[in-house]
Amino acid sequence: MIRITIDKELCKGCGLCVPFCPRGLIELGTEINAKGYHPAKISSPENCTGCSACAKMCPDLAIEIIKEG
Ligand code: SF4
Ligand code: SF4
Repeated sequence: MIRITIDKELCKGCGLCVPFCPRGLIELGTEINAKGYHPAKISSPENCTGCSACAKMCPDLAIEIIKEG
């Protein structure tokens, strides 16, 4: 099982990760974090393949992918 998390307080809403998801699962949300940014979110995490493309692109290491089991 793959678990993906985006730390909404580490994320600066730069959007760099968005076009790198081959499945188009990442978008910038409407929520505002403590620094005033709109953090990225995963629209349907169950469709994530765990390819890590998004995590590699994030300059702030806000995305974590954990492969379990
Ligand atoms: S790990 Fe791959 S499939 Fe999953 S959200 Fe990131 S880029 Fe998309
Ligand atoms: S690349 Fe990182 S900091 Fe930028 S929007 Fe994506 S998760 Fe947030």
